[in-house]
Amino acid sequence: MFLREGTLSPSAMVYDVVVVGGGPAGLTAGIYARTRSLSTLILEAQEMGGQLSWLYPTKSVYDYPSYIAIEGGELGQLFTLHARESGAEMLSGEVVDVQRSGGAFVLRTRDGRSFEARAIILALGMGLFAPKRLDVPGEAEFEGGGVTYNAKDRREFKDKRVLIVGGGDSALEFALEIVAAAKSVVLVHRRGEFRAMEKNVEAVRKAPIQVMFNAELTSIEGDERVRRAVVYDNRTLKKSVLDVDAIIINIGFEPKITPLPKWGIALEGERLIKVKMDMSTSVPGIYACGDIVSYPGKDKRIVTACGEAVTAVMSVYKYLKAPYWA
Ligand code: NAP
Repeated sequence: MFLREGTLSPSAMVYDVVVVGGGPAGLTAGIYARTRSLSTLILEAQEMGGQLSWLYPTKSVYDYPSYIAIEGGELGQLFTLHARESGAEMLSGEVVDVQRSGGAFVLRTRDGRSFEARAIILALGMGLFAPKRLDVPGEAEFEGGGVTYNAKDRREFKDKRVLIVGGGDSALEFALEIVAAAKSVVLVHRRGEFRAMEKNVEAVRKAPIQVMFNAELTSIEGDERVRRAVVYDNRTLKKSVLDVDAIIINIGFEPKITPLPKWGIALEGERLIKVKMDMSTSVPGIYACGDIVSYPGKDKRIVTACGEAVTAVMSVYKYLKAPYWA
């Protein structure tokens, strides 16, 4: 499918590649694009470093090779520094429109700026998204009063009795992240087993974390702050009332409205971009990498996102330069 036609202003610089998204995938794309001397601009809607920087800056990352453990924020900064040192330009801006213009593309940001590129790499991560809510009584009332959807700074939970809902890697990693400082940590999961990686499951098993399997948080009580969590065993219907100071609900994320359908790119479902092995999308000249892409066997890891970014850059290079060796 082809994009709508846009207009190029004759004086503006045309980048070889504009990377949309400044998380690990986008920043790696920037670093590698510069190794091939492609003029490169990275546009990021929120914060360079992506989720590492704004979602879990104090959470340790244990699976990025060569760092046995590194905090998300620090890793995000290092990615950003590396991309900047490589010579990639970086700007903040939420891309809301992409149009074809002759042999190039025009990208427009929400604040009305436009950028021109011969190729695009979409590294939008999960896109702009909001945490999923349980929608139980008390949840909305106590949001900000003890109920939260991510543990941005583990120091907030020092000496607190914390209940965490969820059975994925995020929930388990948050539990592990705060357990040393918290007074107590209870992990509530609706099934009898976790879906998280064995490494996290094993670490939770060894940590002083109370796990409540087959358990569902059904209401949150308190006064000016959260004080109690009501949890039901979904097999026996036995009710437990736990005294808590904080509740972290970590049950995944829902995308906010995505502009992708308007850009004419073939999607998988409503928001994932279908890519081929070379990270090409259905639109010639537009490539994608990281959490936003879908292909058989896709796994969401920082390191796989970085690998996909390198593949995307090499595909952009071949598309733009048609080198003799490709
Ligand atoms: P996730 O894997 O989708 O897990 C969400 C969890 O919340 C699941 O256990 C799910 O239960 C539970 N849940 C969903 N809706 C619920 C509801 N209404 N009530 C109660 N529980 C509910 O989400 P995530 O943990 O945010 O991870 C997202 C992706 O990022 C995953 O692919 C994950 O592996 C990856 N990730 C990787 C790392 C890493 O590589 N270190 C770290 C974090 C995340 P069910 O299991 O019953 O569906």
